Amino acid sequence: ARAQAMQVDGSPDVSYDDIGGLEAQIREVREAVEEPLVNAQQFRDVGIEPPSGVLLHGPPGTGKTMLAKAVANETDATFIKMAGSELVRKFIGEGARLVRDLFELASERQPAIIFIDEIDAIAAKRTESKTSGDAEVQRTMMQLLSEMDGFDDRGEIRIIAATNRFDMLDRAILRPGRFDRLIEVPNPDVAGRERILDIHTEDMNLSEDVDLRAMARQTDGLSGAELASMATEAGMFAIRDERTTVEQRDFRDALEKIDQGGETGSQPVA
Ligand code: ATP
Repeated sequence: ARAQAMQVDGSPDVSYDDIGGLEAQIREVREAVEEPLVNAQQFRDVGIEPPSGVLLHGPPGTGKTMLAKAVANETDATFIKMAGSELVRKFIGEGARLVRDLFELASERQPAIIFIDEIDAIAAKRTESKTSGDAEVQRTMMQLLSEMDGFDDRGEIRIIAATNRFDMLDRAILRPGRFDRLIEVPNPDVAGRERILDIHTEDMNLSEDVDLRAMARQTDGLSGAELASMATEAGMFAIRDERTTVEQRDFRDALEKIDQGGETGSQPVA
């Protein structure tokens, strides 16, 4: 079960340059996760503990997983991902043991970044979740907290969690020594959207008439993931039209499709 529940990547291929519009978040993640890994001695010299765990929170598809992968890439750390939702749905009865395995694996493969996606699935307030009252889910969360408490002597392991449902979290996991550094990862602003469109059209054969800045202005409320799929969708419209060059109208058609709740969601566009 260990192999299925965890996704291990020796060298993730995401770099900070691949992430559009999250300059402040990149800076914070570097300070909270990268520095303590790279300059552990400096923290000891100064006599402070680095943040225990970092929690990334914000809407779906905004680049939280990318941020965690980019830190692992930058620090040559093993990236080990576990999805909270899978622990609850697929590995019933095994949650606590899998959490133990997760930290054991990280310890074998250090330096390592542990990434726990959808942490709300195992750490929701009792009142807000059907499953959190479940003794099994409670046990999984207790195991996670106890692994984090015994963290100091574990060496080069950093832990990052992510959630789209910050409001649902049990505040116990935010206490000092646990996820004590919060970083909000919002939907991109207009400059961020333009940068994300630049990144995702880099390898595309774009016509002269394509105006990504204009597209950025028209896509308020879209996430990075939705912008990425808009770019792909624009390419699909060109192919359907038997062209090899992608034109501005393809982007307009793609946006219309996404607005109508196409593949990635149905967030309203202003
Ligand atoms: P979720 O909360 O749904 O797990 P997430 O915040 O972890 O989402 P990612 O998995 O990092 O989102 O992003 C999904 C995809 O969307 C990325 O692989 C990338 O193609 C695109 N994307 C999202 N945000 C950005 C961004 N800021 N810059 C560039 N691409 C982005």
